[in-house]
Amino acid sequence: MTYDAVVIGSGPNGLVAANHLVDRGWSVLVLEAQPELGGAVRSAEDVHPGFVHDTFSAFYPLAAASPALRELRLDQHGLRWRHAPAVLGHPLRGEGWALLHRDRAVTARLMESSYAGDGQAWLDLCSEWDRIGTQLVEGLLTPFPPIRPTLAGLARLRSVGGLGFVKTLLTPAIELGTSRFGGTRPRVLLAGNAGHSDIPIHAPGSGLMGMMLTMLGQTVGYPVPEGGAGELSAALARRLTASGGEIRCGAEVTRVLTSRGRADGVALADGERVASRRAVIADVAAPILFGRLLDPTDVPTRVARGMRGFTLDPGTVKVDWALDGPVPWEQPPEHAPGTVHIADSTTQLTESLAQVAARAIPAEPFLLAGQMTATDPTRSPAGTESMWAYTHVPQETDRDAGDAGIRGAWDRDDCERFADRMQAQIERHAPGFASRVLSRRVLGPRELEARDANLIGGAVGGGTSQLHQQLVFRPVPGLGRAETGVPGLYLGSASAHPGGGVHGACGRNAARAALLHDRARRMVPGRRG
Ligand SMILES: Cc1cc2nc3c(=O)[nH]c(=O)nc-3n(C[C@H](O)[C@H](O)[C@H](O)COP(=O)(O)OP(=O)(O)OC[C@H]3O[C@@H](n4cnc5c(N)ncnc54)[C@H](O)[C@@H]3O)c2cc1C
Repeated sequence: MTYDAVVIGSGPNGLVAANHLVDRGWSVLVLEAQPELGGAVRSAEDVHPGFVHDTFSAFYPLAAASPALRELRLDQHGLRWRHAPAVLGHPLRGEGWALLHRDRAVTARLMESSYAGDGQAWLDLCSEWDRIGTQLVEGLLTPFPPIRPTLAGLARLRSVGGLGFVKTLLTPAIELGTSRFGGTRPRVLLAGNAGHSDIPIHAPGSGLMGMMLTMLGQTVGYPVPEGGAGELSAALARRLTASGGEIRCGAEVTRVLTSRGRADGVALADGERVASRRAVIADVAAPILFGRLLDPTDVPTRVARGMRGFTLDPGTVKVDWALDGPVPWEQPPEHAPGTVHIADSTTQLTESLAQVAARAIPAEPFLLAGQMTATDPTRSPAGTESMWAYTHVPQETDRDAGDAGIRGAWDRDDCERFADRMQAQIERHAPGFASRVLSRRVLGPRELEARDANLIGGAVGGGTSQLHQQLVFRPVPGLGRAETGVPGLYLGSASAHPGGGVHGACGRNAARAALLHDRARRMVPGRRG
């Protein structure tokens, strides 16, 4: 059978691309290697009976802010968002919590109570964001160069201080925190949010990341799909199939087929071939597309050369726990946060990230954690907690900065011993945590990649998000858009601009590029595109 478009991979970007194309009347088939759809947006009751755990991603501020997802109106396809009492929290030993509440006045009051002046400084930052945040986020989520959002942003720039605000965005996260706030609370929130990406928090770019995630938390929250992350993917799939799109799971693509230099279909692992008339959209990591799925002779020389310098982001170890009660925080927070950052101080946080960058397994890993039942009570029986934490580890390990001799082979032994270290980090803030554990599951880099081939070595972002591989440098210098240099083939995964996170922008950019080139081809007979 021939389709207008074949989409390889059913992650959020693949499903968003497919939805955009069926909306324009295209026939679309999504081919997914795994037995289940959703990529890194899945959940299951596979850790402990009665407990739903998100297998990978969990909180979706970017989805809530992204036009690519918002315009699909997934609420009409069964998606319901839930919010925790507080968006984000960071326990500070002996000093209470840094808390981001959805009500900015509450956040400001909590900050003011620990350092006079920080409450007003927080409200000032929020009001700057109110004036320019939407243009900034839309600029980041549209194809590069983002002409329309840039013009809209420039028009508002003066109202937030002109070049001074640009400087703020370029300021590293640590300096941003110390330049605007006197107390620890806002500083750790900004630094912890910057730590969601692999940009060193003393480097430019980290401040923008920290500010964007923090301000999104303050404006749209960190919502989760009711019932589990998989409900977001299920809503995308329902919307797609209701409009005639098709999805096949257990269908691994092993080759992108070309004819006279143009992509015109794919071959599956079992030998079947599926033809595409107008486009192939690859929701696959760039090293897989250019290194495995394309015949080397089809990869443009410039792209092949650029891919030799492609940098992955670090690996990941994720631990899921089923707890028979709430987390026994030493000092219970005033409002229960959904997302929790765990590091004793910005110094410890910085050290942990620096150790990973220096190919060492962190001694006191900076944890991103989630209290899912506190956020969405459907996740586990009343009074219990469905909890996870993950942290980053080097792609290639030289040494263990701790004392457990973890080698970085990430076999079961490494994974369990490192999970013990992660659990000990929590235990320091929540004595008795271990005694609440009903079940624990550890997913190391290998297990993550086995469940989603895009997560190469446990890299969660489709490639580093450091500045040298962003914008026009993503995935290789000179691309920055979904076009691959192979007519008819578009890169729609997190390896494309604007990168990792569940926002669907890479998928929408790829679908738009396919539509644009298709229109051009039809207008100019004989044109390749
Ligand atoms: C542990 C973890 C936690 C995260 N937490 C968050 C979070 O809280 N919030 C957030 O916004 N983001 C988070 N992320 C990042 C986010 O999940 C990803 O950036 C996002 O899922 C990328 O979407 P994608 O569609 O590009 O790729 P993916 O979601 O990875 O989907 C790619 C799909 O393609 C399929 N595929 C690959 N190769 C082939 C092939 N040859 N044939 C057929 N199918 C193929 C894969 O099986 C997979 O289903 C997290 C990621 C991980 C791993």
